Amino acid sequence: MFGYIAIVAISSLVGMVISKKLKSTFAKYGTVIMSNGMNGAQVAQAMLDYYNINDVKIVPRKGILTDHYNPLTKTIALSEPVYNSYSVSAGAVAAHECGHAIQHASKYHAMHMRSVMVPFIQFSSRIQQFLFFGILMGIGTEIMTSVWGLGILTATFGATALFALVTLPVEFNASKRALTWLDDTDVMKDGIEYDGAKEGLKWAAMTYVANALSALVIFLYFGWNMLTNRNKGRLV
Ligand SMILES: [Zn+2]
Repeated sequence: MFGYIAIVAISSLVGMVISKKLKSTFAKYGTVIMSNGMNGAQVAQAMLDYYNINDVKIVPRKGILTDHYNPLTKTIALSEPVYNSYSVSAGAVAAHECGHAIQHASKYHAMHMRSVMVPFIQFSSRIQQFLFFGILMGIGTEIMTSVWGLGILTATFGATALFALVTLPVEFNASKRALTWLDDTDVMKDGIEYDGAKEGLKWAAMTYVANALSALVIFLYFGWNMLTNRNKGRLV
């Protein structure tokens, strides 16, 4: 169990450092106003218009960092600070979410694969929670000490890691589409505007990289414990 706790502690620490850097970068460019005179919602609409996407709605959403694209309802939800703001950070986030809408419209393969995986991931994380609950209640010691128990845990962590890895090309590609459009159309002026958008999106992508790396290490840790069965009756 010590190894697992150590991995989770280290990856949470790395995740915290990256998310702090992301927040400070967004705060920094949240004070730089785009010279195009558009707010986040208008940037998103302009990008959709540019790619002739007419069936996607843009809606405001309460909270911070609640921005996302929902392929089922074809909706770009922008958090209220992004929806209403005229800053470089807001423009970058809005364009990134549009990048997902364009992926959907152009049937981008990795995005489709990610959507197909969602119900399996939900199922596997429920099994994971159930097993961990059992262990915490002291009735599941065998889960962490037997090859079959570790096998199930390894499979669920494998699914989590695979999902986190498939998320990477989807996120990197959405940012790439956003930055290409912002540059080509001059929506973000060269210099502090474009560089700020690029830096903000880079740190957003790093959170997904850290997430995938930690999921991969946890999967390998449980897999290795299962294969070597080195714990022999002790908790991993
Ligand atoms: Zn995204």
